[in-house]
Amino acid sequence: MKKLLPTSTAGSLPKPVWLAEPEKLWSPWKLQDEQLVLGKQDALRLSLLDQTQAGIDIVSDGEQTRQHFVTTFIEHLHGVDFENRKTVKIRNRYDASVPGVVSAVERKKPVFVEDAKFLRSQTDQPIKWALPGPMTMIDTLYDDHYKSREKLAWEFAKILNEEAKELEAAGVDIIQFDEPAFNVFFDEVNDWGIAALERAAEGLKCETAVHICYGYGIKANTDWKKTLGNEWRQYEEVFPKLQKSSIDIVSLECMNSHVPMELIELIRGKKVMVGAIDVATNTVETPEQVADVLRKALQFVDADKLYPCTNCGMAPLSKEVANGKLRALAAGAEIVRKEILGT
Ligand SMILES: [Zn+2]
Repeated sequence: MKKLLPTSTAGSLPKPVWLAEPEKLWSPWKLQDEQLVLGKQDALRLSLLDQTQAGIDIVSDGEQTRQHFVTTFIEHLHGVDFENRKTVKIRNRYDASVPGVVSAVERKKPVFVEDAKFLRSQTDQPIKWALPGPMTMIDTLYDDHYKSREKLAWEFAKILNEEAKELEAAGVDIIQFDEPAFNVFFDEVNDWGIAALERAAEGLKCETAVHICYGYGIKANTDWKKTLGNEWRQYEEVFPKLQKSSIDIVSLECMNSHVPMELIELIRGKKVMVGAIDVATNTVETPEQVADVLRKALQFVDADKLYPCTNCGMAPLSKEVANGKLRALAAGAEIVRKEILGT
C-alpha cells in the first residue's frame, strides 16, 4: 500500500434485510437458488459501496456470500457430514451444533473464487479476502476420522493453500486467515498452529494476514471476556513465534480490549492491522477516539506498517451502526495521517 495508514475491516459486515435476518450470526438465507446467487451479488455491491462511501481503503466482500466465516467454507468440502451434527464446545467457551469429519477431507472445487472474481470486477481498490485458519476450522467441528487435531489442521492447511492460490490468481491483494483460536490454545499454536498457518500461506505472492481477536460481540464472548481480568496478555503467548513466521500482517483487537498496547512490540517488523473500532458495542466511536488508539499503537508500530482496522467482524450489528463505525475509522485514520505528514 502506498497510502499511509490504509483502512480496512477485519471481516464481515451486516447483510441487507432482504437477504438474511439482520443482527444475527448464522442467519438463514431468505432467497433460494438463482435468486440467492443474484441476491448475494447485489449485497456484495452494496457492502462495497458502504465501504467506499465511508472512505475505507482496502475493501472486502463484507462476507455477504457466506452465512458464517468458518462453516460456509467447510460446507463446500468433501469428507464432512452436515446431516449428523454433534454439540461441541467452541474455543472452550460455548456449545454449538457442528458437523463432523467422517472421511478424508478434500476440496473438489473452489469455494470463494467466483465471489472474489466478482468483487475484483467491481473495484480498482486493493481487496482483502478472509478465509478461516486451520486451527479455527478444526475447533468448529468434531473429528471421527483423523482423531488428531494436528493432522486434521494440516489437511485443512493444504486445502486452504489451494483456495488461497486461486484467490490470488483472481486478483486478491491480501489473503487473511482468521484464527481466533490462536487466543485460546497457546501450546498447540506454538507446537503446530503457526506451522499449519504457514502451510496454508505457502507460495503466495500476495500479502498474507492473520486475524487474532476476542470474537464477535455475542454474549458467550462478552461473558468470556469478563473472566480474563483487567489485562489481556493472551497475545504475549503467541507473538514471539508469529514474529518469526512468514505471515506479513497481524490483525489485532485494540479498542476497549484491555490488551496492553506494548505487546505489539513483540511483533515488531510485521505490518499490524490495529483494531480501533469495538464491534461489541452499538456506540459509534468518535474519530478522535479512533485516532487515540492509533497514536498509542504508533509507539510500537512504524507508521508505514500501521493499518487501521476494526477489532473483528460487524455482521451482528445494524447497518446504521456499522456504517457509522466505518466512517469513524476512516475519519480517525485521516486525523493521524495528517499529524504524521504534518499537513
Ligand atoms: Zn475476529
